[in-house]
Amino acid sequence: MTNRRRFFHAAARLPLIGGLITGRAGFAAAKPRDFFSELGVPPIINGAGAYTMMTGSLMLPEVVEAIAACSRRFVRLSELHDAVGKRIASLLGAEAAMVPSGAAAALTLGTAACITGDNPEFIQRIPDTAGMKNEVIVQKTHRFPYDHMVRNCGVRLIEVETAAELERAISPKTAHLLFLNKADPLGQVKMAEFVALGKKHRVPTFNDAAADVPPIDHVTGPLKLGFDLVAVSGGKGLRGPQSAGLLLGRADLIRAARLNTVPHSDTMGRSCKVNKEELVGMMVAVELYLKHDHAADRREWERRVKTISAAVADVPGIVIEPFVPKIANQTPHLRLKWDANRIRVSPAGLMQKLREGAPSIELVPEPPEGVEIAAWTLEPGEAEIVGKRIRAILAA
Ligand SMILES: *Cc1c(COP(=O)(O)O)cnc(C)c1O
Repeated sequence: MTNRRRFFHAAARLPLIGGLITGRAGFAAAKPRDFFSELGVPPIINGAGAYTMMTGSLMLPEVVEAIAACSRRFVRLSELHDAVGKRIASLLGAEAAMVPSGAAAALTLGTAACITGDNPEFIQRIPDTAGMKNEVIVQKTHRFPYDHMVRNCGVRLIEVETAAELERAISPKTAHLLFLNKADPLGQVKMAEFVALGKKHRVPTFNDAAADVPPIDHVTGPLKLGFDLVAVSGGKGLRGPQSAGLLLGRADLIRAARLNTVPHSDTMGRSCKVNKEELVGMMVAVELYLKHDHAADRREWERRVKTISAAVADVPGIVIEPFVPKIANQTPHLRLKWDANRIRVSPAGLMQKLREGAPSIELVPEPPEGVEIAAWTLEPGEAEIVGKRIRAILAA
């Protein structure tokens, strides 16, 4: 059964949702309401990956059930934050944990924590950081679009390249040292040395590993190595709510991060709000992830890559490259390239035709000469459709 069908089956079993669907509580839902066709927003085949633009990954039915179950009662939000944080921390071997509204929010709240600590005046005043620690040091090769979430806190990013430059840049104004997990191969200062420098100068180190599960070692590894904070997306490989994430690390910093968001209203991180549904949904996603058969997933993803490869193999001029990204999105992918003289359609043209067809298919462009396909966000049966459609367009 596809995940989408499992979702609707699970949802239909729940009295509240079943009641909403049929309008008659207690009656079994014959046909769930089809919101996407009603709204004229057709579902897509996602061969691109766990991108926010494509709504991330699909939650497992157990996560959806947990969300629905928690939606029916009130609780004290802070008590639930405490309890969920404690459970997630113990599951992942972190000193402490919290659930913000995504890895982007984790970057903001973690940075705010390093700036304000538990100082109430500072917490009220940021992003005006006059007189506070308001510099973050980052390797030039580790700059990324999401470092805007760090800059939201009113800090200046100071770019360095070597370990010596990094040490010289550290001052009493340094809030933290920022590290992009997937950029580790690019930077001169590797992960272990980076952490050691932070410890030597007593400055927190902060690792963004947002898109780097699976495997979970990409999160637990940096924690064991001694990063003071680690940010993870909830709605990518962990398959939790798309509007949730994890901030893991040192207990005093997690406490300070919590002071910079809900239920406190006069805070910069108030907009990083999560409610009981995201909190418990995220916790259940982590629990499920740790029990999941990841080897079976991997075999299925590899089978899908083979299916698509086989479908296009006899197109004259095609080059087929299966690959697994090094750190982020470390799952089986496929790159297709071709000779523009032998195959007339351009990569952008192929993507447009796939998008316009039914069902609509999304891939990722690999400029200038090809496209990339992620296997892990395809649903059962979709690799066959993707292979056939690509072949038909390229061979035409
Ligand atoms: C996806 C991503 C983010 C943002 O994560 P959300 O959970 O969508 O907020 C931040 N950093 C990196 C490196 C990412 O890949």
